[in-house]
Amino acid sequence: MVKAVAVLGSSDGVKGTIFFTQEGDGPHYNPASKEHGAPEDENRHAGDLGNVTAGADGVANINVTDSQIPLTGPNSIIGRAVVVHADPDDLGKGGHELSKSTGNAGGRVACGIIGLQG
Ligand SMILES: [Zn+2]
Repeated sequence: MVKAVAVLGSSDGVKGTIFFTQEGDGPHYNPASKEHGAPEDENRHAGDLGNVTAGADGVANINVTDSQIPLTGPNSIIGRAVVVHADPDDLGKGGHELSKSTGNAGGRVACGIIGLQG
């Protein structure tokens, strides 16, 4: 099993760790130029993983299974970044001029690079 990790950080204290595992050979990335969307949308960027919700303690526990972010192969996400945005992602459906490119999700409050683990 291929494993990877991204350690997120920022200058204002937003932080976290995201672990990735890939089972089997992994799915194939669609290199077509798609619009921003929700994880379940046919038309989405491969990296569109949707919104996460933090609890009252400010901690967000995330467990996502996705078919478009392989850890191996020509479209591997190793070396790419995980970015936490300040505002909710409208998943391409908000009608804002930025909806189809970024989900109008606001500023970037933390980021980290995905690296192979183990
Ligand atoms: Zn997107």
